[in-house]
Amino acid sequence: MDKSTIVNGLSVDVEDWFQVGAFENTISRGDWDGLELRVGDNVARILDLFDGAGVKATFFTLGWVAERNKPAMRAIVERGHELASHGYDHTRVFTFTRAQFAEDIARARAILEDAGGQEVTGYRAPSFSIDARNRWAHEVLAEHGYAYSSSVAPVVHDHYGWREAPRFAFNPVAGSDLVEIPVTTALFRRRRLAAGGGGFFRVLPYGFSRWAIRQVNREGRPAVFYFHPWEVDPGQPRVAEAPLRSRLRHYTNLTRMEGKLSTLLGDFAWGRMDALAAREMPRSLAWAA
Ligand SMILES: [Zn+2]
Repeated sequence: MDKSTIVNGLSVDVEDWFQVGAFENTISRGDWDGLELRVGDNVARILDLFDGAGVKATFFTLGWVAERNKPAMRAIVERGHELASHGYDHTRVFTFTRAQFAEDIARARAILEDAGGQEVTGYRAPSFSIDARNRWAHEVLAEHGYAYSSSVAPVVHDHYGWREAPRFAFNPVAGSDLVEIPVTTALFRRRRLAAGGGGFFRVLPYGFSRWAIRQVNREGRPAVFYFHPWEVDPGQPRVAEAPLRSRLRHYTNLTRMEGKLSTLLGDFAWGRMDALAAREMPRSLAWAA
């Protein structure tokens, strides 16, 4: 098929199989150090997949993960990808005070810059946890000199969402160049559908994602897609105690994910989020508190 000339944003939220929101009531933070680390091997497979497709991407990585997987961090940078921040330990931003959030992003950034040897300029909130409750989070990111954030899901979802936020690049802080690049939504009968990846991509037929990204590109805009390393890992330990709904969402189609991703990478043009943010900045909408 003919590819659109629009370069879409490809991102990986780098956290391990036990650090996902779906299991937070089953696996406590104190248990993490006793669990098998699988994210390093999964990142290695993803890097091979990206090399095979000839694409570059952004890896939004937890500080906790970077501390324990330094070779994987170096490989991400050496192979031409962007290493960016996903916070220290996946605490949702709206549970922080402003000062705690500042501390969290500074801690994660220092670890990531040490591990990757490059400046970190991008941030993605765990579980897209910047919304109407904590607009101050964007101010903190601007104060800390971040170039962009990709932390808003402009849609209603059972775990997250900021329904009123713009669908495309906006400047959330008056007087700052900080750009927010929301995760992709597609319009269907004027309703916004979450279409940026995660469970939707894995669980729904591939045709939905292809349709959604084409729609967004027809609007003249890049899509922003994300997935997680554990989604390409059918061998990960099963968390039997988690609620059925969480398990269904987490374990469906893990074996088919890599093939689906290959198709997606071939069907569209993809690149890093820092480059996308720089391209979108001139036309980003002023939408500040
Ligand atoms: Zn995450």
